[in-house]
Amino acid sequence: MEPLIGIDLGTTNSLCAIFDGEPRLIPNALGEYLTPSAVGMVDEDQLVIGAPAKELQITQPNKAAVCFKRLMGTNEKIRVNDREFTATELSSLVLKSLKEDAEKFLKVDIQNAVITVPAYFNDNQRKATKLAGEMAGLRVRRVVNEPTAAALTYGFHDQNADKKILVMDLGGGTFDVTIMEIFEGSLEIMATAGESFLGGEDFTNRLVHTCLEQKGYNFEIAELKFPQMLARLTKECERAKRLFLTEESTTISFPDESGKSTDKIVQLSRKQFSDVNRHLMKRLERPVTKVLRDTDILPDEIDDVILVGGATRMTIIREFVCQLFKKEPNCKFDPDQVVALGAAIQAALIDDDAAVDDMVMTDVCPFTLGIEVVKTFGSREIGGYYMPIIHRNTTIPVSKEDVISTIHANQTQIQIRVFQGESRKVADNIKLGELAVSGIPRGPAKQEVFVRFCYDANGILDVEAYIPETGKKFGTVLTNHVKGLSNKEISKAIERLQQLKFYPREDIKNRHLLLFCERVSGDISLFERKNFEDVVDLFEESLSSNDRDFFARVRQDLLICLSSLGHPYSEPKADSE
Ligand code: AMP
Repeated sequence: MEPLIGIDLGTTNSLCAIFDGEPRLIPNALGEYLTPSAVGMVDEDQLVIGAPAKELQITQPNKAAVCFKRLMGTNEKIRVNDREFTATELSSLVLKSLKEDAEKFLKVDIQNAVITVPAYFNDNQRKATKLAGEMAGLRVRRVVNEPTAAALTYGFHDQNADKKILVMDLGGGTFDVTIMEIFEGSLEIMATAGESFLGGEDFTNRLVHTCLEQKGYNFEIAELKFPQMLARLTKECERAKRLFLTEESTTISFPDESGKSTDKIVQLSRKQFSDVNRHLMKRLERPVTKVLRDTDILPDEIDDVILVGGATRMTIIREFVCQLFKKEPNCKFDPDQVVALGAAIQAALIDDDAAVDDMVMTDVCPFTLGIEVVKTFGSREIGGYYMPIIHRNTTIPVSKEDVISTIHANQTQIQIRVFQGESRKVADNIKLGELAVSGIPRGPAKQEVFVRFCYDANGILDVEAYIPETGKKFGTVLTNHVKGLSNKEISKAIERLQQLKFYPREDIKNRHLLLFCERVSGDISLFERKNFEDVVDLFEESLSSNDRDFFARVRQDLLICLSSLGHPYSEPKADSE
């Protein structure tokens, strides 16, 4: 059987796992399970992915991109060095790197993958994720919702449970809440709600805004004029955010405009952190209330609250859970790993692995899908109304049909506009695409056209229209309002990406160390710097020498030097190969 890996393609970090009797994580070239979802360019346009790219983003933000998952499914261009990429292209580079890591670790070719997406990802975002997989040379066998994958991990390890579980998934950029029921190995997703623009990064950004305000900077100006300062400040705020887990207050070193450390500080307290993020906490409440309402379940009927995604480590999130559900969250699995492990279990389900023989899983469509219709009020016809075809939280896969009709006599065409969302008016929903129906036989108004929506297990929608009188069918591909790519454009993009060279794998650890030194160099005093940079230069030099003893000695000296400067370098784990 061809190996099928599970990938959690996160906003901040990505992970990869395989099922082998049970789900197992796969380490990357640095021996780590978490690969930052970051893409950078070093020396003459060589690509670095993951931790080295994240380091690069701090010292030279114009040479690296992070958080691009937030732009999936849009045509927005992201600049890396002097090249432009879409979020799909950058994601495909991360996926390619994970694929190669898995191939090296498992010593087999990998061509098939299950990729997870936030439950609330819309059709465009899901299609873009699938396309990113294809661009990376992967056949995407299933796009699975992140909370569903998390639920699978719990379900797999607790197959005899009889429980109602709420999964709260707060990653770097998205928030999903799912209620499911486990009963004798069957796992039923009952309802899902969420926001695709709310995550841990927003909490960090609030701190960044607070620090800038305190020092008299405007965010937009800082973003435009001092990107290095902003990148460094974000890193500092990220550190502070994590410290609030244990500390009541902390200080942030406010960088200068070129991003170097200064002795200016900002004092921040946990209370202040809660205060500036109050409106974000309010936004978190909404999807929770919605899933409880949709399933008619009371908070105290929930047996377990499972936390997923790095940002659920924040104390304010745990307090929120305790307050609402009157119980501590269940943290049996690492919130960073649970989704990737579940993706591998989903892969085992697809492969009919004997170890998951007794598991059955049903998922739901997280949002309502429908079309625009015209309503008649007396003699007035007003467009812009929404007619749902598949209601939110319907079990998937699902296929539903409804009938629309012409408004005018002798009308031969109807433009079907497809939307996703819960509002009465289409203007407040997300437009997914259009389908043109022509050749309707002339005649009086109210000629019927059948519209069928098929929503598959990947969460991807197919729309078909059918004129009963002529038997003519239209569909099934939607023309997205976000410009879809033709096959030719996709091939061109793949070709362009293939021309880019990945930084040599055997040197990736050294490159990571060098980029780390680059950052430290900006942090230490000028007095310390001269000496330090001599050691770094020597290390760089030793990389091209064939004398392995010399290289090992210099590397060791550099590590000692970093420790003595108060910036110890945590050595990547044992080589994964
Ligand atoms: P994910 O997309 O699941 O990898 O989640 C990444 C998000 O989790 C980022 O916004 C991180 O800042 C946040 N995060 C990770 N660890 C912690 C922590 N210990 N405390 C607060 N936030 C964290």
